[in-house]
Amino acid sequence: MDLYSFIPSLTDPKHSVLDEFRELNLKEPIESHSRIVSHQGKKEDFSSLGLSTENAMELAKLHMLTETKLGATTIEEYFSPSFFKTNFWFFWATMFAFEKWHSVVEVKRYMERFMHLIGGLNRLKGILHTEYNQYDSLILPLITWLKDNKVVFDLGTTVTDIDFDFSNEEKTVTAIHCKNHEKNEMISVKKEDLVLFTNGSMTQNTTRGDMDHPAKINRSDDKGCFSVWKKIAVKSSDFGHPEVFCSDIDKTKWLSFTVTLKDDDIVFPYLLDLTGDQPGMGGLVTIKDSSWFMSWVVPKQPHFINQPDNVKVLWAYALNLDVAGDCIPKTMSDCTGQEMFEELLYHMGLQDKAAEILSHTINVIPSMMPYITSQFMPRIAGDRPAVVPAGSQNFGFIGQYAEVPQDCVFTVEYSIRTARVAVYDLMKLGKEVDPVYPSQYDLRVLTNAAKTCLNLDKVPLQDIPLGKLLQNTELAALLMS
Ligand SMILES: Cc1cc2nc3c(=O)[nH]c(=O)nc-3n(C[C@H](O)[C@H](O)[C@H](O)COP(=O)(O)OP(=O)(O)OC[C@H]3O[C@@H](n4cnc5c(N)ncnc54)[C@H](O)[C@@H]3O)c2cc1C
Repeated sequence: MDLYSFIPSLTDPKHSVLDEFRELNLKEPIESHSRIVSHQGKKEDFSSLGLSTENAMELAKLHMLTETKLGATTIEEYFSPSFFKTNFWFFWATMFAFEKWHSVVEVKRYMERFMHLIGGLNRLKGILHTEYNQYDSLILPLITWLKDNKVVFDLGTTVTDIDFDFSNEEKTVTAIHCKNHEKNEMISVKKEDLVLFTNGSMTQNTTRGDMDHPAKINRSDDKGCFSVWKKIAVKSSDFGHPEVFCSDIDKTKWLSFTVTLKDDDIVFPYLLDLTGDQPGMGGLVTIKDSSWFMSWVVPKQPHFINQPDNVKVLWAYALNLDVAGDCIPKTMSDCTGQEMFEELLYHMGLQDKAAEILSHTINVIPSMMPYITSQFMPRIAGDRPAVVPAGSQNFGFIGQYAEVPQDCVFTVEYSIRTARVAVYDLMKLGKEVDPVYPSQYDLRVLTNAAKTCLNLDKVPLQDIPLGKLLQNTELAALLMS
């Protein structure tokens, strides 16, 4: 938000992107009235998180344990099996794309980072959205501002390696090797220059299909920035462990697909009726009994700048790609765009209208992302390098695979924060990046989260041994209010 407070809006240069964003979310806040469906378009009860006392206590303990103690524990190793049947897990897994084999430390970080939102978790309250898709609403204004400030974007250039001088216990980049439109080049780097390296990308090696073709997974050993990270990681023990994140595609992939409809008078009116949510104001809807574990989002329309009025766009994704669908007897990985959409229509309760809907469907674009959840893989301290490694003179790691204590990955904010930390530090600006919002240290937030997880308006302190100790304390007042 700091960054976007001075990036001019594309539509009204007197306004910042942050102003625009704030106004939109005040005017059209997200609040879901239908978070879960099942049985082909039947709304499910989503009023509570469905946690037992045992499950709530496991969450409380997770909050207390240190990251060092948790180490590379997976979510499945940490929680008891009943946890995975709760609404909490359905909401959590689908909102953030967590799989059971991912790091429980990342669950802890998310829980603490967004603890103030747990009360509204089932209704997605507090989730913010942009006017258009995030490229048009966030990236485009930023690129425009950077170009106006004479920043040069050199597209078609692939970095292949980075050379360092490690003398005097310092780390100084001396050269960048790259391929510029297939021509090998070397850029010499001086100590006074600054090199910021995005050492991994969740969209690396993404492939796309279309209406009639699946998106074929790319299992190539050429993993773009991950490969560069691998090359430099062997040069210094301070540069982290890329293999932890990018070695097991089957644990880090998912598929999403975007549906484009023209002159639709079935799908959008039906979904409005089913969910009670205006496009853009409902957020993610998860299909509880979908074998693919599929969810959809109806964003605000138009979703793209210049999208014609009679064109509508929606998005869906799934986490189980290698099992057969419930309507289409194929794995999601093998499905064409049309087949994925047919499976979705079945679960929405629109199977009988599929033929007519497909006649208004311009395209369905599946997108296979082999590394989309690689940042959630179990890790220990040191697997992610520090943003500015010890002794670095002119080099920083930025993005989702550099370490920022307390912050959580799979967010734009995390990448921006790493870049700010790198620039403030390496340019010796003497400025501090705003700390991560410490909501978990606010007693009001904690007590509210406890009440939500226990599904209680008031915590019956008299029934628990700790209650006596807390009698007449401020904490008791908060828990009982
Ligand atoms: C479907 C989806 C939904 C998301 N939803 C949200 C959300 O709701 N909220 C949120 O905050 N975040 C969300 N995210 C996450 C967010 O988009 C990312 O965390 C963020 O964009 C990462 O930015 P980055 O600059 O670190 O990396 P990237 O944007 O991945 O940039 C890495 C760049 O490096 C380039 N590159 C790779 N290899 C090389 C090479 N060898 N040489 C030169 N260049 C190279 C790539 O082309 C790419 O441009 C979502 C992401 C996806 C995919």
